[in-house]
Amino acid sequence: MNEEELTPHFEELKKELEGKITDEQLRKELNTYLNEYRVTIEAAKRGIKRKYGVDPTLSFVTGDSISKKISDLTGTEMNVDILARAVFTEKKTVTVRGESKTIVSGILGDETGTAPFTVWEGVNVDLVKGETYLFKNAYTKKWNEKVQINLGSRGKVEKPEGVKVDVPDKIIAAESAEIKIGDIRDGAGNVTVTGRILSVETRNITVKGETKVVHSGLIADDTGKIQFSAWNDYNLKEKDSICIKNAYIRSWKGIPQLNLGDRCEVSKVADSFGVIDAAASSRKTVADIMSIGGGLDVSISGTVVDLRGGSGLINRCPQCNRSVLNDECTAHGKVTPVFDLRMKLTIDDGTGAISAIVNRQDTERITGVTLAAAEGLAKARGDTEIVAREMAPKIIMKRITVTGNVLSDEYGPMMIVKKVEEAKVDVKGEAERLFKEVEAAL
Ligand SMILES: [Zn+2]
Repeated sequence: MNEEELTPHFEELKKELEGKITDEQLRKELNTYLNEYRVTIEAAKRGIKRKYGVDPTLSFVTGDSISKKISDLTGTEMNVDILARAVFTEKKTVTVRGESKTIVSGILGDETGTAPFTVWEGVNVDLVKGETYLFKNAYTKKWNEKVQINLGSRGKVEKPEGVKVDVPDKIIAAESAEIKIGDIRDGAGNVTVTGRILSVETRNITVKGETKVVHSGLIADDTGKIQFSAWNDYNLKEKDSICIKNAYIRSWKGIPQLNLGDRCEVSKVADSFGVIDAAASSRKTVADIMSIGGGLDVSISGTVVDLRGGSGLINRCPQCNRSVLNDECTAHGKVTPVFDLRMKLTIDDGTGAISAIVNRQDTERITGVTLAAAEGLAKARGDTEIVAREMAPKIIMKRITVTGNVLSDEYGPMMIVKKVEEAKVDVKGEAERLFKEVEAAL
């Protein structure tokens, strides 16, 4: 840790240990903890506080926070005040440990920079875009090289009277990182994207009683594709290649979406993509998906390691198609269900495992068990679960490639499979690869 990175921690300790330690002593202590004990800065701070008689948990609660500009945030602040303007805000409902709660997130800006924020607890002020707020007792974290501002149970949002923070346009533009579509994820802040429009449609929607026109569709580059929504008419046309500056990201069930808001600039560019290889751009690993949260038309190749409960012969509500247990639909009450086949697979690709739901047609094709045969078997044995047991050996340990949309919820990412292919294993290539690996290990 260099001098510059150390300074805010030094200042924080100095403030909390006022009168208990000289600057020189404090410098020596920090050096001992960091360079001799080789502990993290947070552990060092706790250790030093404890040593000089300040309960680190207590001082952390009651200690005065320091106030900082956004560009001075290091991502390690545990108690900091930030006066900034809400550049963009959004309320959303998330599930934390099985409980649903409302949080507010968005982007804060001041004259030095911008950073994403999340208010996790006690949303006591309705944050309005364009207004200036004082975030008190915030903490920060670093994610993907970007500092994020968080407000937990100790934090507070105040609206100072007559104070206004300006965020120069050039800062927002500078903060708008140029990014490949395949790398876009929630919390990416403002982004600049270049891609080709695959489709666009115009719809009227009603927002707070007002009719608005929204232009939405799909845009792709050589790394992936993403859904976009534009709230102004940029005269977007299919097959146009465009550069979008200052778009922002919102996620729906883990799938990032590109939003072209008021500060967005759109320009036509020469097409440098040639033929976009849709298959190549949608190929992802489970680890990619875990870090992004979801995606459209994603392909994953891996080994089926489990056929999970809820697979095989299932009952569905004839009205809404939900799967039902004990002839009871959560929306329609008592119903006479219809039979269907499906598989809930766990697929492992070496980087991680993901759930995938396979529909009847593909289930029949891959396992060779038809719906009619499954019904017959279940009736003959008086047991519906026999169907899944029958299917399991036909699918488990098979290598397959699945393509579909991946959504995330509290159970993690899950693919709704549109297409299943049995992977053609290159036996010779695989053997050579294995041989090389073994050889390298000798
Ligand atoms: Zn129903």
